[in-house]
Amino acid sequence: MLKNKIVLITGAGRGIGRAIAIALAKEGAEVVINYNGSEERAKEVKQTIEENGGKASIYKCNVSDFAACEAMIKDIVKEYGHLDILVNNAGITKDGLIMKMKEEDFDSVLNVNLKGTFNTIRHSARQMLKQRSGKIINISSVSGILGNVGQANYAASKAGVIGLTKTMARELGSRGITVNAIAPGFVDTEMTEVLSEEIRENACKQIILGRFGKPEDIANTAVFLASDKADYITGQVISVDGGMNV
Ligand code: NAP
Repeated sequence: MLKNKIVLITGAGRGIGRAIAIALAKEGAEVVINYNGSEERAKEVKQTIEENGGKASIYKCNVSDFAACEAMIKDIVKEYGHLDILVNNAGITKDGLIMKMKEEDFDSVLNVNLKGTFNTIRHSARQMLKQRSGKIINISSVSGILGNVGQANYAASKAGVIGLTKTMARELGSRGITVNAIAPGFVDTEMTEVLSEEIRENACKQIILGRFGKPEDIANTAVFLASDKADYITGQVISVDGGMNV
């Protein structure tokens, strides 16, 4: 379904990004696995993809760094000649109630989650406009839609991603580029591993399906949005949350 497509997925060394990378590669895409912290994990994802007959490479870049994102996308275009799909998945949390939230914790979450998404779109758009095609998928969150106690920074960043998604859809649509967001609910990854049993139980009470999702649940939606089956969908936020945002 995605044969000959070149895909960049940010933060693809683990969790949801890893699942998206594996799923897109399974559909035939050639995947660039961006990472920032752990090269070992990125290599593991590359190896897993290759063992399944797919193609992948790894690229270290801190998405909050504007110039580094420019270099990453230039290198990808130089290497492959095109960039067809961009998945903005890299994200962090630094939770705390507003009265205790440090300025640097607000800034760093906004810098990775929102500015990082801006940075990669800003530098990919030129190539996609030239190609007159492209699919951009941004990973937002149910927190960006509903808000969440203790996540002023994270919810603001993910709400920002939604505004950015809709604006990019409007700006880029006339050149055949679609821009959509996925808003996951609670998904079992290292990000949610830190939650106490009490918080988990309370969260499950807000989920119609009564359980956390799996990274593959998000990856399945990303595969759909990346495919030509989603050619007439843009500017949308698709909730994959077991029924939290209804
Ligand atoms: P995770 O397991 O903590 O993974 C986060 C990923 O982001 C890692 O691969 C990490 O790469 C990467 N990353 C962090 N800072 C980066 C930076 N500055 N530059 C490049 N990469 C960076 O989290 P996850 O649960 O898979 O989350 C993936 C996305 O889904 C995030 O945007 C998150 O906000 C969103 N989301 C998650 C949930 C959930 O319940 N898990 C719910 C809603 C939305 P390194 O390890 O290489 O630094």
